[in-house]
Amino acid sequence: MKIHEYQAKEILQKYGVPTPQGIACFTVDDAVNAAKQLGGRIWVVKAQIYAGGRGKGGGVKIARSLDEVRQRANEILNMRLITHQTNPEGQIVHRLFIEQGVQIVKEYYVGLVVDRSRQRVCLMASSAGGMDIEKVAAETPQKIHKIFIDPIAGLNHQQAEDLVQKIDIPEQTWPQAIVLLQDLYRAFEDTDASLLEINPLTLTTDHRVIALDAKMNFDDNALFRHPDIVALRDLDEEDPVEVEASKHELSYIPLDGNIGCLVNGAGLAMATMDIIKLYGGNPANFLDVGGGATTEKVTEAFKLMLCNPKLQAILVNIFGGIMKCDVIAQGVVAAARDVQLTVPLVVRLEGTNVDLGKKILADSGLPIISADNMADAAEKAVNAVKTKSNSLKE
Ligand code: ADP
Ligand code: MG
Repeated sequence: MKIHEYQAKEILQKYGVPTPQGIACFTVDDAVNAAKQLGGRIWVVKAQIYAGGRGKGGGVKIARSLDEVRQRANEILNMRLITHQTNPEGQIVHRLFIEQGVQIVKEYYVGLVVDRSRQRVCLMASSAGGMDIEKVAAETPQKIHKIFIDPIAGLNHQQAEDLVQKIDIPEQTWPQAIVLLQDLYRAFEDTDASLLEINPLTLTTDHRVIALDAKMNFDDNALFRHPDIVALRDLDEEDPVEVEASKHELSYIPLDGNIGCLVNGAGLAMATMDIIKLYGGNPANFLDVGGGATTEKVTEAFKLMLCNPKLQAILVNIFGGIMKCDVIAQGVVAAARDVQLTVPLVVRLEGTNVDLGKKILADSGLPIISADNMADAAEKAVNAVKTKSNSLKE
């Protein structure tokens, strides 16, 4: 799960991480009032969308008067912001963050992620922070320093000091920067974050480092113990189809192809997508219905796939281990009837009660194409798409 910059900053402030003062708002008038309330002479008007790269896309602008705050807020609010992290259509800006303008002496990068292969949290930092960090990572990765944190000991003073030195933070700022890194790590740990990125971490004229930007993602599997974080979720920022899927506890990710996949188990779902590719087709989605694929779940899954205008065939690939194949077959038949399926449906079932399952499919009267194994299923789905497009051409 992702949250907005201003929300991440609120969390970080609780852990003692300094950030500029700011106020989130939804209208241009509120933006001007926020600037008045913050005081000072320079403000930054910042689009709040889940994607980064806002500065380059025109979503972060300086204002030197209240009139200019109004002007900038007017430009940014409701704009379609396209950045390298949004999809090509961009993201409409519904929220703004008005922040005090900070005089920047130097920009650093700090990031925390879970390194799965080492089973540790990796703390990365660079002296080359700011809006070109992707270029730094691609062209001069040696400028990014990493440490791996022992989960029992946490981030110790020595490690933090080494990192602060490596990224050339001036010596008088070390004590504050070390504490800041430790605070960031505590925030990351406590909230079950999967990513925490401060880019830029800024050196100010009074020799302090502060978080000028903040990005936090959280491990979905740990959200059950963070209702306060779940409450921050902004559905405007999420793909409506994925939101609908999560309501039914389905893992659904739309892709570019035209063969919808309905599979139980993430591993089998990945393998199904691979084998579709192997036979020259393209999957329209990843969809894992999980272990308990009920008729309702399968129906919802069909509906989700059918939202995709590119969909030309569906491949159901289910291994009936805990679930029995006859129960799944009944679910598939009921779901196909319910949604009045118009695209070819290929079903491969394997496991407990498979013969009974296949009989239910065959007796249903629906034009279901039954497959004996994964390769057969993939080939049949790819052929079904070809036949469909050929018949359209004729
Ligand atoms: P993004 O990473 O999405 O482009 P940032 O919050 O990092 O958005 O803002 C882009 C740039 O704008 C920063 O690298 C920084 O130079 C500048 N900036 C952001 N917030 C402030 C602020 N409060 N005061 C001064 N400059 C800022
Ligand atoms: Mg940034």
